[in-house]
Parts: sequence; C-alpha cells; structure tokens
Amino acid sequence: MDYIDLVKNVYRIYKECQIKSFPVDCWAVLDHYNFKVFTYSQLEERSKELYLLSTAFSGDSFCEQKKRIIAYNEKANQYRIRFSLMHELGHFVLGHAGESAKSEIDADEFASHVLAPRPVIRYMNIKDVDDLHEKFGLSYSAANNAWSNYIYRWKWMPPYDEDDMLLNLIFPDYRPRNTSLNNFNRYCLYEDSFDRNSVEFARAEYRYLYGNDL
Ligand SMILES: [Zn+2]
Repeated sequence: MDYIDLVKNVYRIYKECQIKSFPVDCWAVLDHYNFKVFTYSQLEERSKELYLLSTAFSGDSFCEQKKRIIAYNEKANQYRIRFSLMHELGHFVLGHAGESAKSEIDADEFASHVLAPRPVIRYMNIKDVDDLHEKFGLSYSAANNAWSNYIYRWKWMPPYDEDDMLLNLIFPDYRPRNTSLNNFNRYCLYEDSFDRNSVEFARAEYRYLYGNDL
C-alpha cells in the first residue's frame, strides 16, 4: 500500500478515536467503531456457525464486517492479540471485501503502522526493538518487522506533510523542524525527470542519504 494512503488512514483513526498515548488502547478503538469483540470460546457459545466459519479462516482472529463482530483466539499472547485486532480493523477501514494475499499484507501493514506510527517512533526517540516492543505493545516479531522497516527505509526519508499532521495531532507541541527544506529535499529525490534506475540516480540518492563518503 502507498505510504501516504497508509498514514492518512492512520491519521483518521487517531483523530476519530482521539488517541494521544501509547500503547494504543485497541479495545477503545474497536469500541469507537461499535465493534463487538469476542474470544473464540465466547463466539463458540454464541454462534457455532460463526465460530466454525471464523476458525476456518484464521487461527488468530476473524471479522464479520456487516455485523461488526471481531473474534480472536484468546490463547495467543496479549501482544499478538493486539496486532490481530488491529489487522481486523484494517480490513474494515481499508474496505476489503473477501480475502486475498494483498489484502492480508495491507491489513498487516495497517496494524503495524496504527500500533507504531513511524513518525512517532522517531519523535519518541525509540532506541531499539525492545524499546519499541515496550512503548507500543507490539510482539517481538511485529516489533522486529516495524523496526527494520523504520531503520532501513523510513528513518532516512524526509517527513511527509501527512507525517507532520499526525505528530501535530498526537503531540500538540510538535513543530516540524524545517518544512520548506523537507519539501525541497523530497522534490529533489522524487522529481519525475530522474531515471530512478540509473546509476546517477542511485549515486545521488546514496549521497543524499549518507553524505559524501562514497
Ligand atoms: Zn486478514
């Protein structure tokens, strides 16, 4: 999924649910969108049919969008449950109908960014995977993925306006460091006349990211 679309969706959730602190209260978020959340055992008691359907789909969690029901496997650890719940919310927010490999990846990306928005990782000066796991309530495996995505890609990108908007929403005291410079850098890096596959572009990008020590 395009990063801008992703961060816009994350912004929407933070604004509508007025999220101001971490780890995100996943239950409050689902409550805001009127989801009824059940464990798999509770669902089995309520509706055998829905239970069989849900466990056939996934060992972790399931969402019935029309009835706004989410069920999750209570035997998983609490961090994995948090991720699964936001994954299911992702299917709802992104308007997915039915299952596909792409919609699963998008829902996972959504969950990762809702739980640990990349601009917030930078703003909170998160030091490593342990720190990320602790502050954002991600499982170690999800924290590892989010950390690699942050450290190898996101950290070096100039912030988008949408990143700044999100930070401003969560931390009203936040001021972008230098917006005009950020816009200028982004323009240079992504201006369409560049052939992104060329050696020159790769060198220019490398120089931009790492300085002149080629
Ligand atoms: Zn899914």
